[in-house]
Amino acid sequence: MDGTFNENDLSRVVEADRAHIWHHLIQHKPFETNDPRIIVEGKGMRVWDQKGKEHLDAVSGGVWTVNVGYGRESIAKAVYDQLMKLCYFANSAGSIPGSIFAEKLIEKMPGMSRVYYTNSGSEANEKAFKLVRQIAHKRYGGKKTKILYRDRDYHGSTLATMSAGGQDERTVQYGPFAPDFVRVPHCMEYRKHELDGAPEENFGEWAADQIEEVILREGPDTVGALCLEPVTAGGGVIEAPEGYWQRVQEICKKYDVLLHIDEVVCGVGRTGTWFGYQQYGVKPDFVTMAKGVASGYAAIACMVTTEEVFNMFKDDADDPLNYFRDISTFGGCTAGPAAAIENMRIIEDENLLGNCAAMGDRMTGNLRALMEKHKVIGDVRGKGLFLGAELVADRATKEPAPEKLTQAVVADCMAQGVIIGATNRSVPGRNNTLCFSPALIATADDIDQITDAVDGALGRVF
Ligand code: PLP
Repeated sequence: MDGTFNENDLSRVVEADRAHIWHHLIQHKPFETNDPRIIVEGKGMRVWDQKGKEHLDAVSGGVWTVNVGYGRESIAKAVYDQLMKLCYFANSAGSIPGSIFAEKLIEKMPGMSRVYYTNSGSEANEKAFKLVRQIAHKRYGGKKTKILYRDRDYHGSTLATMSAGGQDERTVQYGPFAPDFVRVPHCMEYRKHELDGAPEENFGEWAADQIEEVILREGPDTVGALCLEPVTAGGGVIEAPEGYWQRVQEICKKYDVLLHIDEVVCGVGRTGTWFGYQQYGVKPDFVTMAKGVASGYAAIACMVTTEEVFNMFKDDADDPLNYFRDISTFGGCTAGPAAAIENMRIIEDENLLGNCAAMGDRMTGNLRALMEKHKVIGDVRGKGLFLGAELVADRATKEPAPEKLTQAVVADCMAQGVIIGATNRSVPGRNNTLCFSPALIATADDIDQITDAVDGALGRVF
């Protein structure tokens, strides 16, 4: 293949993709006969592929990212202006957009204080894990190194974050993992029957109490932190039941366990508040975020801590090891915070948090109505514009619908010009939860178009 082609020669782009690209998270055998999909352009809620076909994007770029929608000229301009002024300098020095965004971010996070810039959600989580380990060595004589994570939660693709991986589909065959990561049970009301001893009533408190059991089993003096998603994303879009978060907070306090909330998906508006944890009155020690921070216009992630955590690393300045010995080269890129400032301005000026909550209610209502019509929907759940509909073969037994059929629903929607997702990677081959996370700019018509497509697809597939 001769390597000279331009971006308008889309059949050559497809050929080059087929010859050289290793796509994320998919089997490539089908590309021997089918064309890979190339997304060429995006505007608002919609994207166009290489065939010129228009799609309504109900998953914000596939993985809950483009919160303010495509084609935002003001973000592109802010990034352009900043790059022309200063593209990069290592983050041991500061930058103008870095300072401005940090101040704006902290205004939205009462109780939090310090922002550490990095590039991806996985990395932000790794930074927090490293801090927990360092605190264990500094304060607790090398004890309290254990980090608890929850079944069905996901924290990233690196080896340490996979060591905290609650989704077996993503972790099997990648071990051995890092030591001192310990799993606690999930808190999914709909599948509580899969947990030994789960009660009918007060399941939220019971699920939180299981965390205490694990702490007691491991020894409170060995457990440094608990890492949780506010609403579990890839594990099946799971909101914790009533009573859960209050108990979690009490347990962390009781055993001196730092609470790390992974807001990589929920952060910056996805659930209808700036952060998911704010829906539940939680007071974290660490918050990590990535996807929606700049809506994918630039790569940026943040690990945010309290001043108390920060102070542990400056109180003994004579100790040559008493600072956070960590760096992220691209944490010094200025495009990220420049895009993030504008992203945040858009969310405020266009009242996208309010829109997210209102459109989330509308979508929940539409999905519940579909549940009446299609017995294959066993559960509808989520928060704001972060929703899931779990498909089951049998409502009584809750046996998951076959993944093949779930994927057929996704493909049918795609054929109708609506991109939805399917998730629940907790058990290999069990991705039976349809997943919806449209941009926060979605209108009532967009929401209805998405759920109408699902209605049609379910009718044809089941
Ligand atoms: N945490 C959560 C909750 C996620 O869903 C993801 C990615 O989907 C990550 C962390 C990892 O983020 P990244 O892919 O940017 O490394």
